[in-house]
Amino acid sequence: MKRANFKNTGLLAATICFANLAAGSSAADSSMPVASAERMAARIVALSQFGANPEGGVSRVAFSAADIQGREYIKSLMRSVGLDVRVDTAGNIIGRREGSQPDLPAIMFGSHIDSVPNGGNFDGDVGVIGAIEVAQVLQDNGVRTRHPLEIVSFVDEEGGLTGSRAMTVGLTDSALEVMSHSGLSIRDGIRAVGGDPQRLGGAIRRPGDLLAFIELHIEQGALLYEQGINIGVVEGIVGIRWWDVVIEGFANHAGTTPMNRRRDALVSAAELTLVVNRIANSMDGRQVATVGRIHAEPGAANVIPGRVVMSLEIRDLAAGKMQRVFAAIEAEAREIAQNHETPIHFDEIEVASPPAPTAESMRRIIASVAEELDLTYVRMPSGAGHDAQDMTHLAPTGMIFVPSVAGISHSPEEYTAARDMANGADVLLRTVLALDDGALDLP
Ligand SMILES: [Zn+2]
Repeated sequence: MKRANFKNTGLLAATICFANLAAGSSAADSSMPVASAERMAARIVALSQFGANPEGGVSRVAFSAADIQGREYIKSLMRSVGLDVRVDTAGNIIGRREGSQPDLPAIMFGSHIDSVPNGGNFDGDVGVIGAIEVAQVLQDNGVRTRHPLEIVSFVDEEGGLTGSRAMTVGLTDSALEVMSHSGLSIRDGIRAVGGDPQRLGGAIRRPGDLLAFIELHIEQGALLYEQGINIGVVEGIVGIRWWDVVIEGFANHAGTTPMNRRRDALVSAAELTLVVNRIANSMDGRQVATVGRIHAEPGAANVIPGRVVMSLEIRDLAAGKMQRVFAAIEAEAREIAQNHETPIHFDEIEVASPPAPTAESMRRIIASVAEELDLTYVRMPSGAGHDAQDMTHLAPTGMIFVPSVAGISHSPEEYTAARDMANGADVLLRTVLALDDGALDLP
């Protein structure tokens, strides 16, 4: 197919383009519209000046002056690719591209541009720049989709998925009172970026408003990078459970109490820590379990620890798997408690976050698009939280991962090669076109 044809035929072009893809043409085919790695890299560099830190990363925490400047840059980019830009009442930036059938539900895709303090230039940014790249390629090639497209830059992802939560379930009063890294409460921050905390209901989208949601993001682990795989088809965002584990021993003189008369809470804690690691390691799957904090009392060199409080965290994509991991740990804890006469209690402190699986239909579409582009891919979970996890409640949701060099993230060292970013944008583009073409209706 010649580019001239592609430009002239609008809707038909999108259909032909997808049919062509199905026939197995690759991104290397010069007649296919593709994302520009150079343009994406240049825009990442341009965005990186807002909140740039001496280490080469950014401190662009939500609601800060740097965030507000970065948001202006994103809005201007969105306008330059023909998007109709608005800020919803929660402060999310939404660029809309009307479809030839405006009453159809919109296809939404995007990510976030706020960072953690002393963060990097790719977490979130690749997804927003990639989404704008998709709009640019469609514009440059005169492609009109049937469905409206909405490119989103969520507000305050790093502070607790503020924007996507506001769009799906709404924000509670207590969430609005939380102090953000910018020094503003979430409520005042939303106001500072052009939202309206009095009218947050206006940001809520209803089931049926969106045909689908897709987020392109860096992997933030090293799985793709180390195996040289182009694309991660994300199976979902893992759930997280937290416990305080309390181990009761008996504090006594460390010099006069013989070894066989001790009830040492820290010895039990040490054994339990090894058990946690062994169990998570020995079961099939990608579950993780961690003891990240430990506190021994009274905490003196010459006193046998009488009490230990330590944390336990378990993450997995399946709630049932998390429960099985916990049950196995608990069973061994009972033995340890008996052996050392140190009762062990597990207090679950909160259901931190339930697992948020992506839609199988979306995984299938993303995987087949990657295949058609001759890109290698693997199905994988996301160990980190993303706006996509909230969006799973609203619409069929998919996530596309691209490699992170050495798996480094939330650091100025974070890096994703331009080619990898463009691969991700190409998969995103073709996923959007496939969805527009009715791929979700296929059996
Ligand atoms: Zn992110």
